[in-house]
Formats: sequence, C-alpha cells, structure tokens
Amino acid sequence: MLAQRTTLFGSSGTAAARAAAKAAADAGKEIIDLTAGEIWSDLAPTIRDGAIDAINKGVNRYTDTVGMAELRDALARKVSVETSQIWTADEIAVTTGAKQALFNTAMVLLNPGDEVIVPAPYWTTFPAQVLIAGAKPVFVDTRGNGFVPRLEDLKSAITGKTRAIIVNTPGNPTGVVYDRATLAGIAALAIEHDFWVIFDECYGAFTHSTHIHHSIVTVAPEVRSRTLIINVFSKTLALTGWRIGYLAGPRDFISTVKALQSHTTSNPNVIAQHTVLAHLERGDGSYENQLRAQLASARQQGLKILSSLERVPVPRAQGGFYFYLDLSDLLRPTILNGATRNADDVVHTLLSRAGVAGVSGTAFGDPLGLRLSYGIPLDRLKAGLGQLVETLNAWE
Ligand code: PLP
Repeated sequence: MLAQRTTLFGSSGTAAARAAAKAAADAGKEIIDLTAGEIWSDLAPTIRDGAIDAINKGVNRYTDTVGMAELRDALARKVSVETSQIWTADEIAVTTGAKQALFNTAMVLLNPGDEVIVPAPYWTTFPAQVLIAGAKPVFVDTRGNGFVPRLEDLKSAITGKTRAIIVNTPGNPTGVVYDRATLAGIAALAIEHDFWVIFDECYGAFTHSTHIHHSIVTVAPEVRSRTLIINVFSKTLALTGWRIGYLAGPRDFISTVKALQSHTTSNPNVIAQHTVLAHLERGDGSYENQLRAQLASARQQGLKILSSLERVPVPRAQGGFYFYLDLSDLLRPTILNGATRNADDVVHTLLSRAGVAGVSGTAFGDPLGLRLSYGIPLDRLKAGLGQLVETLNAWE
C-alpha cells in the first residue's frame, strides 16, 4: 500500500505524450515529434568550454546548498538587470531546474487547506505540486479572454484561504504574454487580499512580434516582498538536461528554502553550476540571439502553414515556442452529436494517421486544446505541420 499522497498525482501529461510518440517510433512508424518542451540546438560554446574547464580543474565537491556564492552573485546581477532593481545573492537559491524551484516554493509556502489560483490552461506540474503540498488548486478559466485571466474572474476566485497565485508568462502551453495592465492588476489583488505571487518566467527570453515580457516586480515594485520569481536555463540556453534553475525572493524565504533543499537534493550539480557561471561571465548574447532567431523563423513559417487550417484559428504564439491550437470549432459538431470526443482523440488520430505527435490540452486542464512545439528542426516542423493541416482539414 503506497502513501495516500500518491493518489494526488499521476505522471506528467507531457511526459506521457512524449512516451506515446516514442513508442510509435520504436514500433517502426515515422513520427514527427512536436511534444517536446525543449529546443533542438547545439550547445553554446561557452557552455561546452565551461563544463570542460570545470572537469579539467577537477571540480568534484559539494557547494553551498543553494548554489556557489559566485553563481548566486551572478544571478543576482542578472535579476537586477531584468527587473531594474537591486537584488543580492542572499535573495537567490540555485535549484535543480525550475521544477525544484517551484517544488521548494510549494513546500515552504503552502499549508494544507490553502488555495492557490491557477489560470487554466496551465502547465501540468503547477496543480500537481500544489496538491502534493496539501493545498488546493483553484482554476480560473482563461479561454474566453484569449488565454489571459480576466481580473474580475481572478477576484471571484479569491477566498479567505487564498495563499498564492501562479503567474506564468509567457505561458506554457498557451504561448500568451501577459500585458502590463494584467500584471499590475494581479499585483494589486495580491496586496489587497494578502497573498503571494509565484511568477514563472521560464520562457521570458522568447517573445515574438510586438510582445514584450514584463517582470511583475518591475511593473509593481510594491509586490516584490510577496513575489517568488522562478526561472531556468533549460529554455534560454537549450539546456534542459543540465538542470539549473533558480528562485529569487525575500531573504527569509530563501533561507528556509536552503534548509529544505539541504534535506532533499543538496546543491545542484556542481559541473552544471560552474558551466552556467562561465556562460554568465563570458557569454556575449550571441548564442541567445541565435536561438531567438531560430524560433522566430520557425514560428513565422509554422504560422504560415497553420493559416491553411480551415476550422482552427491561427494560434497567438506571442511567446515561448508553442503553438496552442483551439480545437473547439473542429470538435463542436461531434460534441453536438452526443459523442464525447476531445483533444485526446485528435492527438491519437494525428499520431496514427499523420505520424505527428502533439500534447492534448487535457494535460493542461483544457480538453479543447492542442500544444505543438516549434523548437524542432525547421524541415521536420514544416513537414509535421503540413501533415497535421491535411489531417485536421479532413476531420469529420
Ligand atoms: N515552468 C514552466 C512553465 C515550464 O514549462 C517548465 C518546463 O517545461 C518548467 C517550469 C520546468 O523547467 P525544468 O524542467 O527545466 O525544471
């Protein structure tokens, strides 16, 4: 008999979608995999050299639990530049990916019975971690407002038990970027009703067209003392496997995170820490620019192909590297006929008929959405989207 808390979570929906794509490929089917939450790219030269230098220096010991002092200093400088405010190393904890930053946050912040507002569609790990901490996710549907929460909807979700809101901009899976007014409104609600803001900006480096990523603490400096900033190098530097993320927040919060982390993973991998530090010290931004250009081109060409979809609106794709398709017009006739088809059926059909793998919106609390990553090589992306358009336009 397993612990009761194991009933609160299943394996992540995106991991399951990746596994289904892999199983089909292993069975000999030609699959174009658009499920990945990562960018297809070579390593940045500074990362490659930084790792080799660290190994050649014989780096092998524990570091400070929440990261080497030099790395925390460098991250404090990074956050200072990004927020136009002064941050210091004792306000930063280096973590094993953003997932650990979020998990630490949930464990340090939430009491059983607390409520956390989660705009939906949501990244699948957000509610899972809230539940593991014994708290309750309260979903606020954003479908009717272009996937950005309406302030009045957020207001209606607030109760005396509200402890935090999760703000993820640019958003996974929706690809929307919150504007300043929305962020200012959320900050005002947090202050008025005395709750925290968990601000996940893991995709902040990638905004497209005229969209700009704003940090909530820049828009509303008065919310900083109740904000936890979550970020990671997984996306910005195409380094998902290296597992370096960080949490920026009030000093006493960070020192409690340090105590917690000292009983779980201790420090994040030391070679990866040295490597990211080397990049922060020596990188000139050219690698990031190259990734941004790669994604901008993939987005533009992908949107052009998707514009041929007959019953699916062209996705917003304002930030990050996901196209989030709204399948409601496509599925409405079958739903009206009494059939219970949803995005899962679309995903299965795409995989079996078109050899294209995407992630069903059911993984994100939205049975009418479909997430497609455009972080893959351009020729594969174009082929996959072409096949997808053909299959969805023939959908009955
Ligand atoms: N936050 C968001 C919104 C994400 O999409 C992801 C990963 O997909 C993470 C956090 C976690 O990043 P990592 O897996 O590198 O810890």
